[in-house]
This record gives sequence, C-alpha cells and structure tokens, in this order.
Amino acid sequence: MPIPERGMTKDEILSALQSFKENDLNWRSGKVLGFTYQPGADAEEVTKAAYMMYLSENALDPTTYPSVLRLEREIVRTVADLLRGDENVVGNFTSGGTESILLAIKTARDKMRADRPHIQEPEMVLPLTAHPAFRKAGAYFDVKPVFVPFDRETFKADVEAMREAVTDNTILLVGSAPGYAQGVVDPIAEIGALAQEKDLLFHVDGCVGGIQLSLMRRMGEYDVPDFDFSVPGVTSISADLHKYGYAAKGASTILYRNKKIRRHQIFASTATTTYVLINPTLLSTKSGGPMAGAWAVMQYLGEEGYRTMIREVMDVTRRMIEGVRATGELRILGEPIVPMFSMASDSINVFQLADEMTKRGWYLQPQLSTPYSPPNLHISVNSNTTPVVDEFVQDLRGAVETVKNDYVPLDIAEVKAQIQAALDQAGPEAFGQILAMGGIQGTTLPSEMALINSVMDALPDEVCEDLLAGFMNDLYI
Ligand SMILES: *Cc1c(COP(=O)(O)O)cnc(C)c1O
Repeated sequence: MPIPERGMTKDEILSALQSFKENDLNWRSGKVLGFTYQPGADAEEVTKAAYMMYLSENALDPTTYPSVLRLEREIVRTVADLLRGDENVVGNFTSGGTESILLAIKTARDKMRADRPHIQEPEMVLPLTAHPAFRKAGAYFDVKPVFVPFDRETFKADVEAMREAVTDNTILLVGSAPGYAQGVVDPIAEIGALAQEKDLLFHVDGCVGGIQLSLMRRMGEYDVPDFDFSVPGVTSISADLHKYGYAAKGASTILYRNKKIRRHQIFASTATTTYVLINPTLLSTKSGGPMAGAWAVMQYLGEEGYRTMIREVMDVTRRMIEGVRATGELRILGEPIVPMFSMASDSINVFQLADEMTKRGWYLQPQLSTPYSPPNLHISVNSNTTPVVDEFVQDLRGAVETVKNDYVPLDIAEVKAQIQAALDQAGPEAFGQILAMGGIQGTTLPSEMALINSVMDALPDEVCEDLLAGFMNDLYI
C-alpha cells in the first residue's frame, strides 16, 4: 500500500479514520468492564488539550526543554509523596506499566551484578498472581522468574512459599498492590520483612492501583494495608497514571528507594559518531504529550475530584458484587479492596457467560485457570458504569439463566483429549488442528469465544503460548 500520490484533505482523512473505528469497543458506553479508565468528558478534554500542547516537544533531552523536565519532576514528586516516599525517593516517568516493570527488573539485575558479581544466573521470586510483564522482563533481561503459589482462598502471595523459593541466586522479590486479576493486595509488609531478612531487593507492582490505594488511604474511609515506601524493605514501586490515575495512555512511573538504586537504570553513551545519548528510561525520542496530559489531569481533578470518583466507583463495585452473588451461581475470588474483582462459577462455564454478556452489549475479560485457581471473568469499574449498573445486574442474571438453560455445556475433558491426540501427532500441523478446534479460520475469530478460551485453558502453557505467538505473527503483516 503506497502513500497516496496526492495528499488527502484533512476532512477526508478524519472521516476515513472515524469510519475505521466502526467495529471497535465502545468504551464510552460504561459497558466495557476491562482495561478502560475514564475520568469523564471534562477531564478528558483538558487532558487532550494539554497532551496536544506538548505533542511535538521531544522529551529525549531534558536540557533542551526545561519545561518537560519540570513536568516529569513534578509528576514523580507527586507520586512519591502519595506513596509516602521520603526525600531520597527518586523516579522517572515511563510509557506504561510494562516499561516501568522492565526498568525495575533491569535495574535490579544491574545493581546486583555490581554488588554480588558471583551471581551468574539471577532469579526473582514472585507469586503466580503477578502481572505477565515480570515474565516478559525476565525474558528480556535474563532474570529467571521463580513462581510460587498463592493462597487459594485469599489470592494473596504465600510468603512462606516465597521464603522457600529464595536461593543464593535470588536478587529480587515481587508483590502486587493490587494484582490486576483479582484486585487483591499481597501481604507487602511480610514480604518486605523477608526481603530485609534475606537482604534482597523488593519491587511492589502498584501499576493499576498504587495511585488509587494511596488516595483511598488518605480518605480514611477504607481499609488499606500498608503497601508503599512506608514498608521497610520495599526498594522500588511501579505506579501507572494511565489506569486509576485517569491520565491518557502512555503514562506510568517507576520509583526507587534512593538514587543509588536508580543509578543502575540509566544508560549513557559517548562512544559513537552520534550525539551524546543519555537515557534514564527505555525510550529515547519520545513525545512530551503523555507527561503534559498526566500532569494536567491531576491538576484538573485535584484530590477532591479523585475522592469523588473513588466513592462512586467503589459504590458501583459494591452493587455489582451484590448482583453477582445474588445470581447464586457465581462467586467472587478473594477479597478485592479496589474497584476491580473477578468471578468464577462451579456450575456454569464462565467463558460462555462472557459470550452471552457480549451479546447483551457488555465486555467482560476472560482469565484462565492456574493450578491454584479456576477460570474466571475480570471486571474493572469506571464511573461511567454508574448509570447502567442496574442494567448490569439484570443482564447478568438473565445471562446466567440463558447459559444454564440454553447453552450446550462444553466438555473440557473431551477438548483436552482431542488436543492431546493432536499434540501426539506433534509437528506444526497439530497447531492448525488445534486452532480449528477453537473455531479459528486463518486469523478470523468466531463471534463466540467460549470454545477458544476453553481450549486455551486446557492447553499446557508452553504449547498455548507458542500457538498464540504464531497467531499474532500471522495477524500482523
Ligand atoms: C496493567 C498492569 C501492568 C502493565 O501495565 P501496562 O500499562 O499495560 O503496560 C502491570 N501490572 C499490573 C498490576 C497491571 O494492572
């Protein structure tokens, strides 16, 4: 596809782009219950204006744009204060939670390379509830993730299992505040004590909820366990602004207990013909837009604005959870303390329930089982769900009944047996067969995803991951 010989007009371009969106999720509906975070129309407008004002400023070199440096310093100070860091706590603005986590793992690796050069094959110990970005970071930076179980009832990290997993190669412990999947906060104080006892680094993943939990703590109306720099032993925290901080996407922070640790994050090069390059984070050339947008939304909402939204989403969450329990067929996993939760069922296939809710205009996020937990559906709540919360409760009740009465139950044992048979033949042909079992033709997904989700859930992780990577490889050009 060549670029057009003669350029299109602004109107033509914008209407083309608008038409492309036709089949996208409608996040304004209040019915998209996963990975959208909405501060409301006014805040959105302010964010966009600020973002556009800094769109073309290059945050590559803070000495050329002092205002961009100022924005970053003010954002980091604000987040450090929320997370009860003292004046020694430092950090950087990043493009997202994944970049913050990648940096935390790279920094931990390089600090320990300097301090404990005898460690050749560094390891991090983390519960299976940790975000996959840690596995990704481990793969990128050669730090082996050593996963340990979590409590089957509470979904909190099993600290004794973490202790037992520590070896001479361990450099880092990881806990979440909260984990995305269940909205549960790990026992951060206990893990901090273990980190101190074993003289290890300790990263707290506050990507999704670090900002919100801090604001909730300051409100004094919610029971928030200590998870921040007030906990001895915590050496770094990631906290996204583009989740419950309500910033536009491309906004997160990574904070460290002190500069000695952060020093290992920074890369500098004078050795080539190219300009002097000093990168505190992964990206080099980057827009100042995300920073200005994040700065603006915090100034616009103020703590008062955040408080109002917290009360609203927590109230909606409570009403949704009551509705979930009232179905009699679904249960909430763990005890979520943020506006996020997950639900599982002993009687119906939750992936079929997700499909039925999709037909009724909702988006719920399927999550796969682990050796310690059942398949489940995730919900993150936004204030724009407030006007439709009764409709949610009604639709959920209806959807549960429809799945119970009208859906043909999927025989998971049969699915597993078929997959095993296909795998036994081995080779790449088996993958095609398995994809077909899920109803996938080429790269076209069926409208009902229950079978695919059930197939993914039944497959061994390595096989499923290989399959999905292959699928993506075909999906993109
Ligand atoms: C979203 C999330 C991440 C990853 O953040 P991205 O911004 O999507 O890269 C990491 N950890 C937790 C707990 C998250 O919720």
